[in-house]
Amino acid sequence: MACVPFYTQRNKLMGYFCYLNKPAHMITFDTPTYLTLPGHFYTEQHPTPISDPKCLLWNTALAKDLGWSALSDSAITALFSGNSIPEGLRPFAQAYAGHQFGHFTKLGDGRAVLLGEQLLQNGNRVDIQLKGAGPTPYSRRGDGRATLASMLREYLISEAMHHLGIPTSRSLAVIQTNDPVYREVVHPGAVLTRVMSSHIRVGTFEYARNFGQASDLEALLKYTIKRHYPELIGTQNPALAFLEHVMDAQIALIVEWMRVGFIHGVMNTDNMSIAGETFDYGPCAFMNSYHPDTVFSSIDAQGRYAFANQPLLARWNVAALAMALLPLLGKSETAASNSAKTLLDDFMPRYQNKFLDMMCNKLGIAKPQENDRMLVEELLGWMEQAQADYTNTFLVLSGDLAPDTIWLQPTFLDWKRRWEMRCGTSGPDLAIMRANNPKVIPRNHLVENALEQAHLGDLSPFLALHDILKNPYTYQGEMAPYQVPPATDDREYQTFCGT
Ligand code: AMP
Ligand code: MG
Repeated sequence: MACVPFYTQRNKLMGYFCYLNKPAHMITFDTPTYLTLPGHFYTEQHPTPISDPKCLLWNTALAKDLGWSALSDSAITALFSGNSIPEGLRPFAQAYAGHQFGHFTKLGDGRAVLLGEQLLQNGNRVDIQLKGAGPTPYSRRGDGRATLASMLREYLISEAMHHLGIPTSRSLAVIQTNDPVYREVVHPGAVLTRVMSSHIRVGTFEYARNFGQASDLEALLKYTIKRHYPELIGTQNPALAFLEHVMDAQIALIVEWMRVGFIHGVMNTDNMSIAGETFDYGPCAFMNSYHPDTVFSSIDAQGRYAFANQPLLARWNVAALAMALLPLLGKSETAASNSAKTLLDDFMPRYQNKFLDMMCNKLGIAKPQENDRMLVEELLGWMEQAQADYTNTFLVLSGDLAPDTIWLQPTFLDWKRRWEMRCGTSGPDLAIMRANNPKVIPRNHLVENALEQAHLGDLSPFLALHDILKNPYTYQGEMAPYQVPPATDDREYQTFCGT
């Protein structure tokens, strides 16, 4: 593959035209801005080639947004397997640190290589990253690889989140390989192409603070503000304004997770994006029957990242970011920690307000009032005690699903009468309800079945589920089977991280 840099009239490097064999398969990347950061934020690293690459999934809609519609199958397979890197591209692995289940560790991309950056048609800059691309200097004892099942799972759930309208990393491609990946048993391997507005994490700032110079932290802050929060350039205390913007982005994101019953499962600071996007789809899962303590991750025995703990842990992560930014937050350490504390004290009140607005949207209450909180709490309390399905309860309320016997229980009917009274004579706002209550979510048993069939060589259940999840708010005739919760309560279901 050849690659030609191109320049503006003022001789500023603008990007690369890279082509594989023929100009017809030309692919353009933008110049990677991340490489303007000090060198110890990354290590230049090529992906390690894989054998027998086979393109299983290619996201044509996303490819179009990236301006990569014209790529041939062979060019896609060559590039997104990591087997053929255009000359002139400078792939790299990022350095970062993180609090994992509360313990601070030096980390970095152990199995991911960032190919480059690209501008979407809407002007937004994104990272193009290969996950499962082989070892890097940050791999520690890991093999740098990923199993096919875990990459298919990330593709499915990240795209489902996107179509649910939730900020998330996207998935462009899954390329399968015959190379074995050794976990408890041998698995087929795969490389996933992840597209994200950036991979800057809370952990990137922790890395700068703990392993870099003061100038590194300043450089990272300046870069991140320019990339994600340009409106803050020139503000009086940019670090504090930045912290507040990240906090608000995290609050908005967690409220969205709570809206659809999503449990991230591993909200370590290295997995929390500065831009407020969901990413790192390891042990995540969606809740069926409502219970605030729901946790599916096999490595989360204490339930640290359980459903209802997510806002508290997001606050914990924002506090870790504040600690990392401390030298830049105020003129003295006392001033800095006072500012951070005042802001963090406002985390839960801000979250609670957004949570109430979101729940009122789910209930079709257009103008939320403080005493609607009680109505919401009572509904959640009933769901918990009755083990009612979270998603379907709201569909029953909007008349989009016929009530099963569980929704004929007197306690629920009593609550429903009070809700109807609250909504008044015009009734609930059904348009708001339908825009906020998905008709389908990627339920665990459906995801597992799709992955099992894919493992046996039949990708059609996976593709059918993926198709249904593209329009989660619009009823489609073939949706009904996907709306049924698992026959038995799936609270015993377990997800596994980092596979
Ligand atoms: P995660 O739990 O996926 O957020 O990963 C935590 C850290 O472990 C990150 O630094 C990853 O890059 C690294 N890691 C996870 N799986 C592997 C692997 N198979 N090989 C090397 N590093 C890995
Ligand atoms: Mg991670």
